[in-house]
Amino acid sequence: MPLEEENRTITINGNTVPPGKNRLLRIEIARLPTGTLIDIPVHVFNAKRAGPTLLVQAGLHGDEINGVETLRRMLENKDFNIIKGTVIVVPILNIFGFIHFSRDVPDGKDVNRSFPGRKTGSLASRIAYHYTQQILPQIDFGIDLHTGGSQRHNFPQVRFTEDDTQSKKLAELFNAPFSFAASLIKGSFRKAANKMGKSILVYEAGESMRFDETAIQLGIEGVKKVLIGLQMQEGTLPKPSKVIYLSTRKWIRAPRAGMFVPEVSNGSAISKGQQLGTIADTYARKNKRIKAPFDGYVFCVNHQAVVNQGDALFHVGR
Ligand SMILES: [Zn+2]
Repeated sequence: MPLEEENRTITINGNTVPPGKNRLLRIEIARLPTGTLIDIPVHVFNAKRAGPTLLVQAGLHGDEINGVETLRRMLENKDFNIIKGTVIVVPILNIFGFIHFSRDVPDGKDVNRSFPGRKTGSLASRIAYHYTQQILPQIDFGIDLHTGGSQRHNFPQVRFTEDDTQSKKLAELFNAPFSFAASLIKGSFRKAANKMGKSILVYEAGESMRFDETAIQLGIEGVKKVLIGLQMQEGTLPKPSKVIYLSTRKWIRAPRAGMFVPEVSNGSAISKGQQLGTIADTYARKNKRIKAPFDGYVFCVNHQAVVNQGDALFHVGR
């Protein structure tokens, strides 16, 4: 019988996780003014048998907690016990943002616009740098869990990279209700990974600082389906659910300031001219109706009650 190829050893911060071992390691980032060390916890599940290395991360934006909860439940339920390859799980990437209930780090910079980062750069840039150095070279693919920013609620959706067949395959396996190819944003984690030849799938579901059970459940199921699809776990994939591919997308913005009342539920089909919501002035004098620009679907709704002119209200696509 031929000898089976042994899996790789993962090294983070000088600590190793050999094949057949699971360990919790930490990437040291910086110290708080009080001297407290801030580090990023990294769970490594390394199977004996060789296979791909999958990164699953959340909290790149510190206030997008659905992903954090998704991974916490998966860790609790031992969902990362794999038979082949390696899973690297990072439940909270932006620790600073998480403890401040903020998308960004204390200097106001977005870590997801600071990749690949610099060793002596701003705090956001340093987080990106350490992560790029320590994690990215060791992975094959990744799943990055997000929610809508501020109070924008994203209906569960995946975003893959056009011309990257691996990321398209991950999107198919994940099987979220909505799916589309998103362009690579400068300074983003996905762009830095793409440059290194690593395929990343972004899952967006729910809104920041609020749990959304559907978002969490579909997130857990999506990650599990990827693990089975990559044959890192035993099991058969369930019959795929219906996916709506969006080739055109458009933000509908507030034509005026006022009280915003959405009148359509997120994820639903819309028809051209349909009233999606109203913006009313606070003196009950004028109402502005917001109408659908085309037949399609609404996949993001802003839950902010008071809006300014130009604020994004709905993300629609077809
Ligand atoms: Zn995000």
